[in-house]
Amino acid sequence: MRAAVSWEAGAPFRVQDDVERRDPGPGEVVVRIRAAGVCQTDMSLSKGKFGQTMPVILGHEGAGEVLQVGPGVTSSAVGDRVLLTWVPACGHCYFCVRGQTYICATRKRSSDRDVNEGPLSAQGQSVMQGLGTATFAEEALVPAHGVLPIPDDLPYEYAALLGCAVPTGLGAALNTGKVTPGESVMVIGCGAVGLSAVQGARAGGGTVVAVDPQASRRALALELGATEAFAPDDPRLNEPRNGVGFDVAIDAVAHSSTIRQAWDAVRRGGRLVVVGAGAGDDMLEFSAQELFHDQKSLLGSYYGSSDMRRELPRMVELWRSGLLHLDRMVDGIVPLDDINDVVRRQASGEVLRVVVTP
Ligand SMILES: [Zn+2]
Ligand SMILES: [Zn+2]
Repeated sequence: MRAAVSWEAGAPFRVQDDVERRDPGPGEVVVRIRAAGVCQTDMSLSKGKFGQTMPVILGHEGAGEVLQVGPGVTSSAVGDRVLLTWVPACGHCYFCVRGQTYICATRKRSSDRDVNEGPLSAQGQSVMQGLGTATFAEEALVPAHGVLPIPDDLPYEYAALLGCAVPTGLGAALNTGKVTPGESVMVIGCGAVGLSAVQGARAGGGTVVAVDPQASRRALALELGATEAFAPDDPRLNEPRNGVGFDVAIDAVAHSSTIRQAWDAVRRGGRLVVVGAGAGDDMLEFSAQELFHDQKSLLGSYYGSSDMRRELPRMVELWRSGLLHLDRMVDGIVPLDDINDVVRRQASGEVLRVVVTP
């Protein structure tokens, strides 16, 4: 099959037709990928970050139809329209039974995966299945509980974004931050995750201030429901919101500097949600006194704390009712062959999100 392979950290993707996958085993399905979003995490992984082993096929936002089902699969049938999730929830582990399916214990980190256990190979060599999904390919072999049905009125190119960026941002506001009507919310970073957080905070009834260095991103944030948008160094951000600070801040950038800025902007008793994928060696300082005295909550948000079985129908309803503007987040659909151009355009900030069709 055709797929975009990362052979070397930092090198461009190589799109090739000779990638092979094994047949689905018990409890597995094969999905014919119709649309795959290029997420910031894919770009980081292709540079070898987070301990990514090469060669690898990346892509973890994907939607398509079920092509094949392995023995014993009853949850999906051939032809079903589905979305892939990069955190398949087993439903049985310590976390899943407590409703925290987004940190299911059965999911392995990129650095812990054994390349030889994966289903993919090329040129006689095993190829890593990036994030257990590898959607930059014509077909993806995944566990049956790693796919969720999508309705007929949802186009594949919109569905793809519902696999990572949108639930991550929307969930950071609604699930982790628990934004309620009337609350003031600051969102730092207006990429696909941050803009989803803006829309989530609006859907939750919050008043949103968006922060991004790029003017076009700030304009888009305003279009998607933010009431104000500032560059990070705008002095107006130094004035405490409502005289006390923001009720909630959501950091989609997650550098130590932005986390500290967001923390300082939050009022006493408020919440800071860190949803960006930060670096393992980027350290942050708090005084022992401020943690006690200011009584702020510092909340990590993985996959938007989203239980995808509930989150997916909710995202679809928000989209149908005009509260989630997926059309404004997808800048185009291009063939997989153009993936290196997509990476370049997204990295430069020229476009927000382009979807590839393998
Ligand atoms: Zn689990
Ligand atoms: Zn992602």
